[in-house]
Amino acid sequence: MKKTYDYIIIGSGFGGSVSALRLAEKGYTVLVIEKGKWYKAKDFPKTNWDLKKWIWLPLFKFFGIMKMTYYRHLAILSGVGVGGGSLVYANTLPKPKSKFFESGSWAELENWEKVLTPFYKTALRMLGAEKNPKFFDADTTLKEVAKNIKLENKFDTTNVAVFFGDKKNQKNKDPYFEGKGPERVSCNFCGKCMTGCPNNSKNTLDKNYLYLAQRLGVEILAENEVVDVSPIEGNSYEITYKNSTKYFAKKQKVQSKGVIFAGGVLGTVSLMLKLKKTSLPNLSDMVGKDVRSNNEALIMVATTDKTKDFTKGVAIASILDLDKNTHVEPVRYGRGSGFWRTLMLPSIQESNFLLRVIKLVFTLIKDPFNWLKIFVVKDFAKQSTVLLFMQNLDSTLQFKRSWFRMSSHILKGKAPTAFIPEAHKIANEYAKKVNGKSMSIFSETLTGIPSTAHILGGCVMGENKSVGVIDKFNRVYGYDKMYVCDGSMISANPGVNPSLSITAISERAMSFIKEKE
Ligand SMILES: Cc1cc2nc3c(=O)[nH]c(=O)nc-3n(C[C@H](O)[C@H](O)[C@H](O)COP(=O)(O)OP(=O)(O)OC[C@H]3O[C@@H](n4cnc5c(N)ncnc54)[C@H](O)[C@@H]3O)c2cc1C
Ligand code: SF4
Repeated sequence: MKKTYDYIIIGSGFGGSVSALRLAEKGYTVLVIEKGKWYKAKDFPKTNWDLKKWIWLPLFKFFGIMKMTYYRHLAILSGVGVGGGSLVYANTLPKPKSKFFESGSWAELENWEKVLTPFYKTALRMLGAEKNPKFFDADTTLKEVAKNIKLENKFDTTNVAVFFGDKKNQKNKDPYFEGKGPERVSCNFCGKCMTGCPNNSKNTLDKNYLYLAQRLGVEILAENEVVDVSPIEGNSYEITYKNSTKYFAKKQKVQSKGVIFAGGVLGTVSLMLKLKKTSLPNLSDMVGKDVRSNNEALIMVATTDKTKDFTKGVAIASILDLDKNTHVEPVRYGRGSGFWRTLMLPSIQESNFLLRVIKLVFTLIKDPFNWLKIFVVKDFAKQSTVLLFMQNLDSTLQFKRSWFRMSSHILKGKAPTAFIPEAHKIANEYAKKVNGKSMSIFSETLTGIPSTAHILGGCVMGENKSVGVIDKFNRVYGYDKMYVCDGSMISANPGVNPSLSITAISERAMSFIKEKE
């Protein structure tokens, strides 16, 4: 007879990894089921032209670390693999401003800023966060822009989950967990963080939470996707999963007493919407509602100036607060990672489609020679940087599910837009500084649909089942020993990169689970 686990965790991103370690420490038997592959430093793609290792598209046998999903209102980038989004993310760990803790469906449930303070501290320590020590071209340019617009005092270095030791290119004994963790090599500022750190310097989850969890006996089953969770007799659940890297995989079953949904917004919300119609009918009607995009715009600035090298540095090394709601960060890829050039068009600030197309054509014919030069520069990554704008203003979407996939709908307020005037203004200032041009992904320029790497919500907290999927302890309304610990639990707009908050809130949720008797 197969073993019954105390907990099964669906997904191994930030929330899943925190849950795995903390449950194991309390004496529970834990199985983590992860859809993506198990990557080691040597396995990551050398550049993002190696699509098979960069992009997750199993239909075409691409088993990479990043997934791109297109919906009517949003294009979403997310992470896949053992360690979830930590494999592909840009390591940046900012703490949100007070507004995040005081708005959204969770606002009245706790004094969040106060109760979460110790858990943010733990999260920063566990993820090995440090102030980035070095600026390079992309950051110094942003600093100059900040100076021009009289915001120099709002420019800062980022807190990043990266090891900056003294001994270059040498293995260092684990510096974080009294030697219990894996060896690290000091960061060489190669800028490859978002195609996977080849140097063992980035503190991905497989080097902290998951590594320590495995030492305590947690089992991790990679390349398997959970497709069903059904309550069975004896207050337990039967979890059905199947291989995610084979075309015709047989379903398998395993039992557990508790379940943690930690598949990230796209994984958890999509699965819960399906299960609400089948095995878990008592789930709240709020599943799929209150989805937020962090109100983002991604604008690329590219230059033909060969003296610039935007690849140097950690992926995000600096941040500028433009106002109390808007932040911008320059984001880089490593040498040779120029795949994005194939998806770029001039960035056009215009909400009307027809006018946008006219402006696009006009922009190209006004300066054809320089545009051509930009598109054919030898190393596009070296000569381009992505400006990531994030806002903590509220607008929400709803995900619904038809029989095969989710679709997005406007729930409240206006649809998220790629046209954030402040973002375009700063991108143009930045472009002027480097004698470059600002560009956006073709879907933004042509359709106006914004892209985000920070999708949040869909299983938000609420006072009761009619306003939330989970309570303030992350427990799912309607089912025992069932939790949500990932980006879908985020119940307000942080306006900054969210992984630190996901880690801190998951730490808090796990702190309420009692030791195994
Ligand atoms: C390019 C990029 C850069 C980013 N940079 C930053 C940054 O600098 N700072 C920051 O804070 N955030 C950043 N993010 C966002 C960050 O990666 C996410 O917010 C974070 O990873 C979300 O954590 P999570 O716990 O919700 O789950 P995730 O990390 O998304 O992990 C969920 C995991 O569950 C798996 N899964 C899903 N469904 C199933 C299923 N049914 N069965 C089994 N497994 C399943 C997925 O494969 C995935 O591995 C970035 C994202 C991208 C794409
Ligand atoms: S800059 Fe290079 S070495 Fe440093 S963390 Fe990023 S990928 Fe690793």
